[in-house]
Amino acid sequence: MFCPTCGNQLQKIAVSTNQGGRFEVDHCGFCGGTWFDPYEINRIPFHEIITLANLTVLPKKKVTELKKHLCPGDNHPLEPFQGDAVPKNVKLLWCKKCLGIWAAQKDLWEFKKHQDETVSAYDVGSKFFPALSVVFVPVVTFLFLLATTFTTITSLQQAQDERIHAESRISDIKTDQISGNAVSISFKTQIPFISSAILGPSSLEMEEFIISDSPSPDHNIVLTGLKPRTRYLFRLKLRDGQNNSFVTDLKYFTTSP
Ligand SMILES: [Zn+2]
Ligand SMILES: [Zn+2]
Repeated sequence: MFCPTCGNQLQKIAVSTNQGGRFEVDHCGFCGGTWFDPYEINRIPFHEIITLANLTVLPKKKVTELKKHLCPGDNHPLEPFQGDAVPKNVKLLWCKKCLGIWAAQKDLWEFKKHQDETVSAYDVGSKFFPALSVVFVPVVTFLFLLATTFTTITSLQQAQDERIHAESRISDIKTDQISGNAVSISFKTQIPFISSAILGPSSLEMEEFIISDSPSPDHNIVLTGLKPRTRYLFRLKLRDGQNNSFVTDLKYFTTSP
């Protein structure tokens, strides 16, 4: 499946709902857009939007937007989605053939924020503050949103800074297939670091593996017990003597048959 916005390959990412359910969305790691099968956009919780945003690789260059936006499933041209539930400042696209929805990162963020706001205002108003709700609920909701938006933007910014730091310290990253279930990862660092790889077949199944347990400029690990013909996501993590840690952008390899 290819991204309707920038044409890069979409990646399947598992997300979990607040009720404990799970489903997969197709996410573009380059422009940050996400494709939802019918109704899935209503099921994804706000914290998973942040997970998706963290998976977006910061491109060196700004991504060039395609002239035509086509459905990643059936190539039908996408059209603007209008509905009462969608605020004016949010632009969602949909495929009238398969009813899937495409959301750019910023629009998804705004849309879910609006959805949370509407739902929490209703919950709080109807259950606890029947008389005061008119004055009280908007204030509470506003303060709550202000606090959550601020912390998520700060943590996103920190994560981006960390990744830029990590990328600038690492060179010669190599992944070599040894067999269907074994891959070696090696890289060098400018100065000695303790290192590990955070790896898994989806964002919800990531595990950390120690590579260098004492500071070293050369790092290598052979990972075994992997599933053949599977795309793995990984990040490299560096830790210095002052206990500062840096994590790279998301990287991929696919195991051989
Ligand atoms: Zn894209
Ligand atoms: Zn479609």
